[in-house]
Amino acid sequence: MKRILVTGGAGFIGSHVCARLVNEGHHVICLDNFLTGCKGNIAHLMDGPRFELVEHDIVHPYPIGPVDEIYHLACPASPVHYQRDPIKTMKISVLGTLNVLGMAKKHDAKILLASTSEIYGDPLVHPQPESYWGNVNPIGIRSCYDEGKRCAETLFMDYHRQEKVRVKIVRIFNTYGPGMLSHDGRVISNFILQALEDKDITIHGDGSQTRSFQYIDDLVEALVKTMNTGDDFLGPVNIGNPTEFTIKELAELVVEYTGSRSKLIYLPLPEDDPKQRRPDISLAREKLNWEPTINLKKGLSRMIAHFKEKEYTHELK
Ligand code: NAD
Ligand code: UDP
Repeated sequence: MKRILVTGGAGFIGSHVCARLVNEGHHVICLDNFLTGCKGNIAHLMDGPRFELVEHDIVHPYPIGPVDEIYHLACPASPVHYQRDPIKTMKISVLGTLNVLGMAKKHDAKILLASTSEIYGDPLVHPQPESYWGNVNPIGIRSCYDEGKRCAETLFMDYHRQEKVRVKIVRIFNTYGPGMLSHDGRVISNFILQALEDKDITIHGDGSQTRSFQYIDDLVEALVKTMNTGDDFLGPVNIGNPTEFTIKELAELVVEYTGSRSKLIYLPLPEDDPKQRRPDISLAREKLNWEPTINLKKGLSRMIAHFKEKEYTHELK
């Protein structure tokens, strides 16, 4: 049994990671300040003897006890949330990451960073391999997140080179599934909720921009596999589903699978919204022997069923 810290453990991805690690028999410490996560996501774990909750903001140091591994996920991830207080977002990515790397150094823990496809910005290379350095606007409204995560990757590599910390960097592409808040604001949860209520489906721009959507279970499997690689594998490694859809195609699929009467409406495209995104996952296939198993049809059906059965009452702070 390992002692494993999951920062951001009450969030969408973090709560699935915590559940997986508890089920594997580990002792899990979930550190979260509920900025964009909620207690409902971890309620089913709270009574278990191997789960601990620490309510703390990682921007400030925390005297964690010994841990063997750290999954560092704490950071708002949806554009509407990370843009609400961009200075705070940058502090979380930079100061928060420094604090968590300090914990890893102190306890000689292996540490994994939840980085993002956003570090490629509005990519000029398609699909995106890890070797691509990206096309990020450093002064735009998405920069707090994109540049924050680029800095977090830099800190990870420098702690590895200078302090010999055992690091892993995972670049996560758009992921969806149960556990996303109704107010999350990302495209799949927005469209499903709109469709279930027969409200207008809000497409940004003309809907020709693309994304490649990965179901949460595939991501969790890849995160655990990456953590379990040898110390010589640092990444960065792309983790995502390489099947690409336009946002308009996504809207049409959601309407079809929900049997909704919703109409598609077109709103202005937000500034710096990437035009295309698809991961090259050759490295993950080779090093992790991993590839996604859940296609969009199956994943959307599961998420629609989940949103139908669960009443979403979680409000953000
Ligand atoms: P989320 O917003 O659901 O979860 C983030 C969690 O971190 C929340 O529980 C939040 O309360 C917590 N948190 C935020 N700031 C904190 C702070 N200062 N101190 C302590 N806890 C804090 O988002 P998610 O989709 O689960 O994303 C998790 C991680 O994965 C993020 O780092 C994100 O950048 C990364 N990621 C996610 C996606 C995706 O598609 N979901 C894609 C790329 C990268
Ligand atoms: N989007 C949209 N309608 C919405 C929310 C998002 O058309 O209600 C678009 C958004 O502009 C982007 C794509 O869907 O082009 C994915 O957005 P999301 O916020 O989910 O993730 P990201 O842009 O970070 O990939």
